[in-house]
Amino acid sequence: MKNISILGSTGSIGTQTLEVISQFPQKFRVVGLAAGNNVDLAAEQVIKYKPTVVSIKSESNAKALESKIRNTKTQIVYGEKGAEEVASIPAAGLVVSSMVGASGLKPTIAAIKAGKDIALANKETLVMAGQLITEEARKNDVKIIPVDSEHSAIYQAIKTSDKKYVRRIILTASGGPFLNTPAEKIKDISVSDALNHPTWKMGNKITIDSATLMNKCFEIIEARWLFDMGCDMISVWIHPQSIIHSMVEFVDGSIISQMGLPDMKIPISYSLNYPERLDLNIGSAEPGAFSNLEFGEVDTGKFPSINYAFSALKEGGTLPAVMNAANEVAVTEFLEGNIGFTKILETIKNVMDLHDNSLEYNYNNIISSDLWARNKAQEILRN
Ligand code: MG
Repeated sequence: MKNISILGSTGSIGTQTLEVISQFPQKFRVVGLAAGNNVDLAAEQVIKYKPTVVSIKSESNAKALESKIRNTKTQIVYGEKGAEEVASIPAAGLVVSSMVGASGLKPTIAAIKAGKDIALANKETLVMAGQLITEEARKNDVKIIPVDSEHSAIYQAIKTSDKKYVRRIILTASGGPFLNTPAEKIKDISVSDALNHPTWKMGNKITIDSATLMNKCFEIIEARWLFDMGCDMISVWIHPQSIIHSMVEFVDGSIISQMGLPDMKIPISYSLNYPERLDLNIGSAEPGAFSNLEFGEVDTGKFPSINYAFSALKEGGTLPAVMNAANEVAVTEFLEGNIGFTKILETIKNVMDLHDNSLEYNYNNIISSDLWARNKAQEILRN
């Protein structure tokens, strides 16, 4: 029996993780849940999975939750401290880190320091603090198993040989909903257009990140840290069908890829039960689903975002954290209907250009650069 805590239990990855766990009650037990603002869903999850501790975003949410779960023994905590408590709960062996954005950083660090293996969906954690996170993981003998479909693919493919034979890793990108939208039409994109992803059903923030290709930017940086690859060893190919989830090219020209239907339960289950596999009862693939696989180059004229990731990686320091924070602010403003689609990338570029990169890399500098970038992005968008 594996004891699991989930950070971000009411989000898209959190709910799908619980669905996988429900399929295997003899294998997994939920001991901690950290939810966002969705009190009703958090209450349902507590009643169904009976965790030892549940955390919710705010004190007022905690009061509302308390009235709904009176008949359970689950202890209620709240806020950032609450999420950290769920992350480090003694009984947990594995922590699923699936909160959205920068909010996942502190609880993920708490889990690593408590010696928990991590199933990592919150890629922003590695974008902001990849070096710090991987060093802490090494120090605490903690495994970080990717949940992101691309990284799960690479994780599986890279194991087929020795790392010294890897020439490069190729991240595939669906290209999002605007792959074939003419450049001059990009500025007219609405929130509902951007939320309509062609192959993946995901939360709002990551869906917008996919539409701007910022999600792929984060995945480039995530790959750099997960697999300890220099940025010259990471390529991105457009692959609209999202069947090949990524590939590893070896020095002899062999390319090993992992493929499957675009269903997040596959990488989620792999991360929960690694190194063993679970019979998810997903039907066998038919050749029709795998016909007409297409690949192409990223149009960096239309999506300059990919270049931001490589410059953030080359410069290092706090620049990746700044890129992430500016994106979070711009995406929130776009989702609220306050700015146009093209403003998202413009804002990120402006904030990155204005950043005085801190060469001294530590937790406090990451947090203060994150805050600086949020304020700067707000200031730029107000003017
Ligand atoms: Mg992905």
